[in-house]
Amino acid sequence: MADGLVADALVRTFGGVRAVDGVSLTVAPGEIVALIGPNGAGKSTLFNIINGQLRPEQGRVTLGDTDITGQSPRAAWRRGIARTFQVAAVFPSFTVAENVQIALLRGRVWNPWRAARFVHHAPAMAALAQVGLVAQADRPAGELAYGDVKRLELAMALAAAPRVLLMDEPTAGMAAPERSAMMALIRTLVHDRGLAVLFTEHDMDAVFTSAHRVLVMDRGRLIAEGPPAAIRANPAVRAAYLGD
Ligand code: ADP
Ligand code: MG
Repeated sequence: MADGLVADALVRTFGGVRAVDGVSLTVAPGEIVALIGPNGAGKSTLFNIINGQLRPEQGRVTLGDTDITGQSPRAAWRRGIARTFQVAAVFPSFTVAENVQIALLRGRVWNPWRAARFVHHAPAMAALAQVGLVAQADRPAGELAYGDVKRLELAMALAAAPRVLLMDEPTAGMAAPERSAMMALIRTLVHDRGLAVLFTEHDMDAVFTSAHRVLVMDRGRLIAEGPPAAIRANPAVRAAYLGD
């Protein structure tokens, strides 16, 4: 693909377990792709390969025309792949703005901790504006409500203007109204910025209301792929995952 994320025939084993067993996928700019499947299906392992935490034994990851297979997370970040985690990771004693400033210093050689509050203030505030957190900028991150911590983590990921955003359960731990607000925010960002988003999610409302395309994984393999309505009606998917 000229400008997007492509994974081609990825394989990664742990001991005898083929955690990711020949998975290929694409995510185009402006596209939201959901990755669903039962616990142990291989979703996190796939994310870890795409953002460089794990090296695949076989297969390739490309971003645009660049082969990024096996590059470090920091290198992937510099090339435009950002990631958020199931349990949001922020620095609680730093302010909301400083957390974004620290994220913007990733990839530098020198110690970010001392420098963070002096640099990148304007882009940090711009990122906070995109997620609706400007009013909280000067509060310690540890004082935020959980939904706002997830927004902060999203701002940290967006600060460097990534091309691809990987989100591991963006709505985990949220109440229903917060969940739909988060998914609406993601849809807006994708629409406005042409981001390519790949996300895992257990909440099927989030998947079926927001994904353009759904990938279903089971035991390391993709067992189905298609638009939400087709996935919801797919008998193999229902048997493996949706629990009928
Ligand atoms: P999911 O995120 O879909 O729940 P994972 O990618 O975490 O699935 O796990 C896929 C399989 O790989 C599971 O059988 C899991 O036990 C195994 N696995 C994942 N990471 C490791 C690891 N670091 N060491 C050994 N086995 C692992
Ligand atoms: Mg997982």
